[in-house]
Amino acid sequence: MTDPNCIFCRIAAGTIPATIVHQDEEIVAFRDIAPQAPVHLVLVPRAHLAGLNDLTPEVAPLVGRIALAARSLAAAEGCAVSGWRLLSNCGPDAGQTVHHLHFHLLGGRPMGGRLA
Ligand code: 5GP
Ligand code: ZN
Repeated sequence: MTDPNCIFCRIAAGTIPATIVHQDEEIVAFRDIAPQAPVHLVLVPRAHLAGLNDLTPEVAPLVGRIALAARSLAAAEGCAVSGWRLLSNCGPDAGQTVHHLHFHLLGGRPMGGRLA
């Protein structure tokens, strides 16, 4: 399912431009428009889910495949050894602004130990 009003559905469909670094049948990864680290990619499923609150056991394996795609992309971006972070903001307190499940892949500089 896709949502024509959702910006990440539209990026995945190719109707909004983005710098896409990986795509397959179910996952698209692109550079964040406002990068917060030298490497800042956004990984999304093509299917529209609002966020981790909507995860079900049926969809959960997709999250594993997103993590595998992130692992490959971290290597391709040169930060597999130096280190990288994969995170998903869910809901207002986490600062989620786009309500399509997505994971940030961040790397390319020391990020310290603080997560919040
Ligand atoms: P959130 O705050 O929901 O966890 O993350 C949303 C992310 O999407 C932000 O880092 C923001 O910069 C990025 N973003 C929002 N709109 C666009 C867009 O049109 N293109 C790209 N490439 N990134 C976007
Ligand atoms: Zn969407």
